[in-house]
Amino acid sequence: MRDGHCIATIHAEMNALLYCAKEGISVRGAKAYVTHFPCLNCTKSLIQAGIKKIYYRNAYRVDDYAIELLEKNNIEYVEKRSLDNSIDDLDILYMTRIQKERFFSDNQYTRLKDSYVLNREKLANAKKDLAILHPLPRVNEIDKDVDDDPRALYFQQVKCGMYARMALIIKLLEANNA
Ligand SMILES: [Zn+2]
Repeated sequence: MRDGHCIATIHAEMNALLYCAKEGISVRGAKAYVTHFPCLNCTKSLIQAGIKKIYYRNAYRVDDYAIELLEKNNIEYVEKRSLDNSIDDLDILYMTRIQKERFFSDNQYTRLKDSYVLNREKLANAKKDLAILHPLPRVNEIDKDVDDDPRALYFQQVKCGMYARMALIIKLLEANNA
């Protein structure tokens, strides 16, 4: 440990930047989404790689000098804790059901299952051209009162999916118009 941060491992931010470097992907002007506020070293690397905005979930051991560097470089850093205070930023909201079968305990599932329910009220500040998608079927994560909203595109999405599958099946069977 150094300054309260683990230095035995490569942090997720560095891992992501190095992966992009290896694959030749430029992150200039990109946004970074992290669970915890980046440590000083990661902050410096993110700045140098050209990241323009950082979203973080937890204000974990925030380094004053990291903040100073972000401000000097005009990089925005925004705490986002839930769907409610992120929704106004989104262009596309891809919902899926909370996958009960992947939880280790019923407790964990019960605690989380209603955290991400979308309803009309939450859409109040969303963009006018937001696209709400979902592979369907849903459990309760999208309230039925959202279905009439012009931004709800999930029925159209599954309809397009059906045509795409029909085309694939025809192609696979090499069928003609007959
Ligand atoms: Zn770090």
